[in-house]
Amino acid sequence: MTGDARILSHPSHPPMPDTLLTHGGRQPAAHHGLVNMPIYRGSTILADSLEQWESRKTPDNPYASYGRFGTPITHAFEDMLASLEGGYRARVYPSGLAACTHAVLAFAGAGDHVLLPDCVYGPMRAFAKGTLARLGITADFYDPAIGAGIRDLLQPATRVVYLEAPGSGTFEMQDIPAIAREARRCGAFVVMDNTWATPIYLRPFDLGVDVSIHAATKYIVGHSDAILGVATASRQAWPRLRDAAAAWGQTVGPDELFLALRGLRTLHVRLKRHWESGLALAEMLSRHPMVRRVMHPALPGDPGHALWRRDFTGASGLFAVELQPVAQQSLSVFFSALQLFGIGLSWGGFESLVLPMDPPQRDAKPFACTGPLVRIHAGLESCDDLRADLCQALDAMQRHARAGIA
Ligand SMILES: *Cc1c(COP(=O)(O)O)cnc(C)c1O
Repeated sequence: MTGDARILSHPSHPPMPDTLLTHGGRQPAAHHGLVNMPIYRGSTILADSLEQWESRKTPDNPYASYGRFGTPITHAFEDMLASLEGGYRARVYPSGLAACTHAVLAFAGAGDHVLLPDCVYGPMRAFAKGTLARLGITADFYDPAIGAGIRDLLQPATRVVYLEAPGSGTFEMQDIPAIAREARRCGAFVVMDNTWATPIYLRPFDLGVDVSIHAATKYIVGHSDAILGVATASRQAWPRLRDAAAAWGQTVGPDELFLALRGLRTLHVRLKRHWESGLALAEMLSRHPMVRRVMHPALPGDPGHALWRRDFTGASGLFAVELQPVAQQSLSVFFSALQLFGIGLSWGGFESLVLPMDPPQRDAKPFACTGPLVRIHAGLESCDDLRADLCQALDAMQRHARAGIA
């Protein structure tokens, strides 16, 4: 048990997420009264006696104590995530992508089959087509709207059904419980990338998921200053996830974990603002003449809105737009005119970002789009300022495009 035992162990009233975020993952009494978990640096962890050395050998720590299997700060963060997600145990990885790839490698081997949504995070598509194929694991991509129809794609060799809702780039939703039900019926493990919603806005274990992954780099760290991944497993899935991570030598240094624990303290309040601002920007953009389409499941009218309302309790600040088809120079005017939005990868930090996106790669079903796609992350700036900034940049692009035609 980490954190404030009085709050976390009260049997009749489990702590609410915001209380857990404040009191979990720290132990002042064990650390000279320090409010936060100190940074533990170390490889060697000494034992007092042969008996103590031998007693430390557990499946989680197979060679007795060693830094690669974590220190108190590792376990503090992992315990917090497992509690927030409602899963059994969690394991950290050096990046979000490492958590995604190793969650698949934990369950699939040569001759096995995995299913991934067509809107999956781009590097996971590349991993499936390259590395998994090289290891003799076949991957197929499914239409994110497939729902229970996934049963037609399941094979006796299917070991993993992967979800990412909403999906990267196009923010397409999946019917998580329907897909999970069919997958489990065939004995496949259900692995979900839950980065967009965070554990605050979606509890995947309640919906039938076996492993939930976060690129903690995004909202959990929250300040664009560290790269970190984490995967939480159900009791049944835990031994395989744990053993694979140990076998591949996955480990994380203490500075990243300190920053992630610090980020968690304010996750709840930050997210509320990201959600409100992102939705306000999406609404404004859906009325702008230079915007063809807004892809945001919390926006009424979005194809995924009903599923979002049913399963999620909030939205993050990340979504995308398809602009009207314009010349590349006009698009360039849009990006250059923005004052508050940085042009860059990643998201989930305090600052607003825009990212030009390539047309989505698809295997199951083509994704129709004619105009340029732009991903938008609403940061913690004043929403009025963000709205005005986006609006003036679109207006500048519109003027440039019209001048080009004239
Ligand atoms: C960024 C991201 C990842 C990968 O995280 P890194 O920490 O950058 O490796 C995985 N999944 C999703 C949905 C992401 O947005």
